[in-house]
Amino acid sequence: MAQIAQNWRIEFMRAHPRLFEFMQDEPKDTFGYPLCNEGWQDVLERLCGRIEEALRDNETFEFVRIKQKFGILRVDWEGEVSDRTRARIEEALALAEARSSCTCELCGAEGDKYHATNKVMVPGARHAEGRPMLATGPPEDGQHEDR
Ligand SMILES: [Zn+2]
Repeated sequence: MAQIAQNWRIEFMRAHPRLFEFMQDEPKDTFGYPLCNEGWQDVLERLCGRIEEALRDNETFEFVRIKQKFGILRVDWEGEVSDRTRARIEEALALAEARSSCTCELCGAEGDKYHATNKVMVPGARHAEGRPMLATGPPEDGQHEDR
């Protein structure tokens, strides 16, 4: 179970060798090992794509930390890059953070703040936050007066 859960992280890091110093023996010790759930996988993939595109041949980049904080993706990184590349990386990070804030960290659902899901393990209040349960009453509760 835990093995399966961490698989996407390992594959994700391996797919971006330029951005991770992958630790073969202890993948979890790799800097930037994603400390978030798989719903954000796509957000991270796009982020990496943008960073890889921004990097010039002589520039270096390494994730220091990828995590979830207050429901938003947080990323620390270090590297030797030009101001221009740095600006592009920061822009990519801002986009990823913005997108993470409206993407469910568990299932990757986008747009709506709430959606149907029966997953039990909810980290923090994300799933509960936008729940519409009490906003509108139930359509029918036996209190009809029209007859
Ligand atoms: Zn969800």
